[in-house]
Amino acid sequence: MNSEIGSRFRELLGEGRDLAGEPMSRHTTFRIGGPADHFLVIRSEEELAGILRICREEEESCFILGNGSNLLVSDKGFRGTVIQICKGMNEVRTEGEMLYAQAGALLSGIARTAMGASLTGLEFAGGIPGTLGGAVVMNAGAYGGELKDVLKETVVMTMDGRVLTLPVSALEMTYRNSLVKREGYIVLRAVLALKSGDAREITGIMAELSAKRSGKQPLEFPSAGSTFKRPEGFFAGKLIEEAGLRGYREGGAQVSEKHCGFVINTGNATAHDVAALIKSVQKRVYENSGVKLEPEVKFLGEFEEDVCGS
Ligand code: FAD
Repeated sequence: MNSEIGSRFRELLGEGRDLAGEPMSRHTTFRIGGPADHFLVIRSEEELAGILRICREEEESCFILGNGSNLLVSDKGFRGTVIQICKGMNEVRTEGEMLYAQAGALLSGIARTAMGASLTGLEFAGGIPGTLGGAVVMNAGAYGGELKDVLKETVVMTMDGRVLTLPVSALEMTYRNSLVKREGYIVLRAVLALKSGDAREITGIMAELSAKRSGKQPLEFPSAGSTFKRPEGFFAGKLIEEAGLRGYREGGAQVSEKHCGFVINTGNATAHDVAALIKSVQKRVYENSGVKLEPEVKFLGEFEEDVCGS
């Protein structure tokens, strides 16, 4: 661990902001993950630029965290600085049919703000437990909607501190992929173009999708949502079920009985358990169907298993 960097963070942000050794299990929806050397919750774009400069000068690895809902962190944690863009940068406002939000705003809150302003287009996102930043990176989607359908433009910071405004046409957003992801840009904020709608209709659609989600998904257990990407022409959950893996376990990790596309933490799962389970599922599905499942979940830190995350 670089101890010099801790004092530089203190100088920039003040006392008590650098959580050294913070367990990542507190910041992931899997509730799994060892300690990060440094953990900073960012409150402004200027702070972020300052932190990135320090990391560059100190040759420190850094990782941008949103709400940790698509992430498996190693049991050994992360040797470097985790920079969280979530609660500290989460303003949302509407102006006419445009919605302006900072990257740390949760999609659930953004969808509620849109609903409150009788704006339609974001109903699909109400139950996705991530931040806007994470959603831009992944082109998050559900129930036939994707972020690219409503995104107008985003403002990003490059790792060397430059700020760029990118229209959606430049973002190359495809299924769970984007230019932002490939280039490692950091999402600061975005503008969503919505349409005026009927508040009661919007509320009804959101309630219906929420009921669908809780009926089908194991929301009562910690997870990172769908563990695997949808392979072209197939459904991951169906392939896993057909391979006889419903309820299959490795340690505390389990293929959900309720939805085979979810790996869940039954209470005491380690990252090693989850990674080993993912690897077994990939192997058994390939043997059974010839389809290679690719993880949708992102891996952070060191893993013994060769699970090749996205
Ligand atoms: P994190 O998990 O924190 O990070 C994921 C990746 O995004 C990392 O590479 C991280 O570095 C990067 N990142 C995060 N914020 C930024 C930023 N500001 N700038 C640059 N990079 C950033 N996903 C769907 O698409 N559809 C669903 O229906 C869905 N349902 C889910 C249901 C459950 C119960 C759970 C637990 C997850 C579900 N997910 C779903 C997965 C997840 O919520 C989304 O992928 C979400 O977009 C991740 O956002 P996050 O803020 O949690 O990102």
